[in-house]
Amino acid sequence: MNPRVFYPLHNTIKHYPWGSKQAFSTLFAISDTDGQPQAEIWMGAHPSGCSVVEQPNGTQLPLSELINQEPETTLGLRVSQQFGELPFLLKVLAAQSALSLQVHPEKTYAEQGFLREQQMASGDYHDGNHKPELVYALTPFMAMNGFRPYDDIIHHFELLDAPEIKHALADFKAQRDESGLQHFFIALMQLETAQRSAALARLEEKNNTGVFPQITPYLKKLIQDYPGDIGLLSPLLLHCITLDPGEAMFLWPGTLHAYIQGVAVEVMANSDNVLRAGLTAKKINLPELVRCTHFHSRPENTLTMKPVQEGHFLSYPVPVEDFRFTLSKTNDSVPVMLESVQIILVMSGHAMLSHANGETLNLVAGQSAFIPASTGEYVLSHQGEVCLVSA
Ligand SMILES: [Zn+2]
Repeated sequence: MNPRVFYPLHNTIKHYPWGSKQAFSTLFAISDTDGQPQAEIWMGAHPSGCSVVEQPNGTQLPLSELINQEPETTLGLRVSQQFGELPFLLKVLAAQSALSLQVHPEKTYAEQGFLREQQMASGDYHDGNHKPELVYALTPFMAMNGFRPYDDIIHHFELLDAPEIKHALADFKAQRDESGLQHFFIALMQLETAQRSAALARLEEKNNTGVFPQITPYLKKLIQDYPGDIGLLSPLLLHCITLDPGEAMFLWPGTLHAYIQGVAVEVMANSDNVLRAGLTAKKINLPELVRCTHFHSRPENTLTMKPVQEGHFLSYPVPVEDFRFTLSKTNDSVPVMLESVQIILVMSGHAMLSHANGETLNLVAGQSAFIPASTGEYVLSHQGEVCLVSA
């Protein structure tokens, strides 16, 4: 039996409580059979949600096993030697309410954390990998990404004018650097219950009277989703941004961020490590989060990515080796040359893949396929938007 060149993927859907009940059925004709929120579709080989492929004899196999049977053929020699596994995970994410305020660790912290995890389970680390992320908006996508300039943060908290925070703010004003912000952040996150309630009541009052015009929509949404949560102070600290459909952002490990609302494609290194500070009912590990967070501020004009036209494809330059993200918006029939393994996702419309050996595969919006490195070259004919993720 000849090996196949295109493997349609059967993917795990995660029903996290922040997920949307309509987005996947509206965008992708994925039926909502049980009324549960549908938060994420996972395409990849991560043990927490491995995709399944069909073998030529009709039996189903986890994608990780297909890869492990012949890593050099499926991943390609370079990726197989460098990573020894599929190095990326592709998701579609549909947020109805905000996801937690979070940080993904750098690789060295993840390696140490995962080792500790195996000795004494804390639930903080699921693997030893870093998790840089790229997020590409399919609908208007509200998010927070990285610290604002220190002076902006100070200005916001001066406007808030909360007595409970006065001392911490004075300390930060006297030390406007990474260490100063770190201490300020810890002081905010550790406010005692009564002080926290008073500060949040003041935040809501100031927001209602239009004191923070630029961030009012973000605060409103977060107050509605997570009343009483200390993470409500985060829009005063972090860049608030709404990506238009077709815009993308890169999130470095160590960056404090949160996704607030919307549908997006997300590509990341093959990891599920998340440390949380707020906007969640899940476990918070503040000391570990602080250890993994970079407290430098980020210039606002570096938030969105600038894609590069590469022949027929738009390529998003990513500063890590774990994944590459390219897409095609023009309706056309074009050759695709594989340098390594690839996952293709149809984001809208439909596509047909055809190989010189006669094999073809039709995909519609929301469907995806795994393409082993040994496929070499194929022709992609499509109408609508398609993204290609490789390593
Ligand atoms: Zn994240």
